[in-house]
Amino acid sequence: MRNREQLHQIVSRLINDNAHRPTPDIALLLLDLNRFKEVNDALGHITGDKVLVELSIILAEKVRETGGSLFRLGGDEFVAVFDANTCTTPFDNLESLLHQSLKTTLQVDDMQVEMGASIGIALYPKDGKDSHELLRCADVAMYTAKNNNQASCWYDPRNDLNNKRRLAIRLELGSAIKENQLSLYYQPRICLRTGEIAGCEALLRWNHPKLGMVPPGEFLPLVELSESIHPLTDWVLHSTIARIEETAKQGNRIPVAMNISARNLTDSRLVNTIEQLVHQKCLEPELLEIEITENALIKHPQLAVENLERLNQLGISIAIDDFGTGYSSLSYLKKLPLDTLKIDRVFVSDMLTEESDSVIVDSTIELAHNFSLIVVAEGVEDKETLEALAAKGCDQAQGYFIAKPMPAKAFDDWLTDRSSTSLASSPTPQHKTG
Ligand code: C2E
Ligand code: CA
Ligand code: CA
Repeated sequence: MRNREQLHQIVSRLINDNAHRPTPDIALLLLDLNRFKEVNDALGHITGDKVLVELSIILAEKVRETGGSLFRLGGDEFVAVFDANTCTTPFDNLESLLHQSLKTTLQVDDMQVEMGASIGIALYPKDGKDSHELLRCADVAMYTAKNNNQASCWYDPRNDLNNKRRLAIRLELGSAIKENQLSLYYQPRICLRTGEIAGCEALLRWNHPKLGMVPPGEFLPLVELSESIHPLTDWVLHSTIARIEETAKQGNRIPVAMNISARNLTDSRLVNTIEQLVHQKCLEPELLEIEITENALIKHPQLAVENLERLNQLGISIAIDDFGTGYSSLSYLKKLPLDTLKIDRVFVSDMLTEESDSVIVDSTIELAHNFSLIVVAEGVEDKETLEALAAKGCDQAQGYFIAKPMPAKAFDDWLTDRSSTSLASSPTPQHKTG
């Protein structure tokens, strides 16, 4: 199967040839398989690869029959290119043609697999003047299709806002720190046995001058690709420490957890800084906690383990975040110096209605306790779930039902309100939202 580089070569050639013809039209269709990751996870990578091979044969056949060429972009993405002069069907029919060929039931290892795809379509010369621009437009269209649950979508510049937004986010993050646009919101977690506050989590917010509040889920993946993640984490660390000191001054010794990215464990910068701060007595280690997702650990096991060991030796507690969404094995968990395990909210939010989620929550609690870890349930949104978690023996809970993430001042008010009411049975209603 031809690849990305050949795609650009061939489209450039077609564009050159096309310029002199009466109908300079090329269609570029980007196909992204739906839920391929689930197939991979459920059936394993070897079977996943077989599915991809089978599908690419079927697709390539159909595309060739129709006078086009198929390319594999990598992963589960394909591009089909058609020149109006050789295409045997009007461009309007292409999407349904490709969808139909994908509908073929595949026979893989005694299993029948059926895949769907989202398709984004871009046209030369209307949408782009070169292969890169066309591919970018097809990508925007494909994401529009996915977001709207449509099988396919033609490029429309009105949907491209998102793309400009991403660009703005990537370019402007550096100045966000300097210009004081970042802040931390705090979300408490409580002990399920006593109802007392057990700590809080610092969650990053970016108040962009034009885009408004940008959630971390939107800008962090972009930042994590660049070196900006280091100054950003440094900012979070220093703000978290300032917050710890401030609360301590008010007589509240509440541990604050900060989140770190995989990249923060691939070198020693963060750990060196923390070590220095502890040695200079600028930080009480028992009041800082570090949260790291299990996927981050799996990507860089050896270095990550070493850095975590150093944090552990300093007396800083470490939580494994979003537990259940990655691929940690039990033996792997055992090797890490962990103190806390946070069950991902996807399991918690439906545990009262989905038997399988309830089983996952039960077994995660048991597993964590066998490793002497504290278990925190994330994403607790109602009283029933809170009570069920307490009955299951879960140690702590965090979620909108207890409080949404809030700015420091609102968090202080929440603490004051709360200390004047009964804690164990009824978490106070939420304050300002995050
Ligand atoms: P996370 O660490 O799993 O944080 C919990 C997320 O769940 C937060 O989203 C929080 O607002 C949300 N949440 C809390 N309770 C509930 C609930 O009851 N229901 C629902 N639906 N959501 C709830 P947020 O603040 O958007 O953060 C998203 C992710 O961004 C975090 O997930 C964390 O992985 C990352 N993040 C946040 N701040 C930082 C940071 O300073 N550094 C790094 N590296 N990552 C950060
Ligand atoms: Ca977290
Ligand atoms: Ca989490």
